[in-house]
Amino acid sequence: MNTQESITDWPDYKRTKHCLIALLIFWIPFGALTGVLLPAILHTFIVTNILALVYVLFTGYAWLQYAFFPCPNCDIPYRGRQLWRRTCPKCGVEINT
Ligand SMILES: [Zn+2]
Repeated sequence: MNTQESITDWPDYKRTKHCLIALLIFWIPFGALTGVLLPAILHTFIVTNILALVYVLFTGYAWLQYAFFPCPNCDIPYRGRQLWRRTCPKCGVEINT
């Protein structure tokens, strides 16, 4: 069994978490940019709707990657439906937050 210090997958986990946080934060400026600027330039909301749909789908994909990131110790997803869990549900290794 690996110790927390010897697990080398923490950078991947942190990159996934930071990508999700960035997507959630930039939703507001992205919405303002595509919801106001693009319709003013193009005189249509079709491009805005397509970009918003792509953004939401990508955010959902990132959220699922974060939620089901496998424990490097036992390969069970860390959080599953409990996004705020601080330890692996199977082996108990602490999540490197
Ligand atoms: Zn585990």
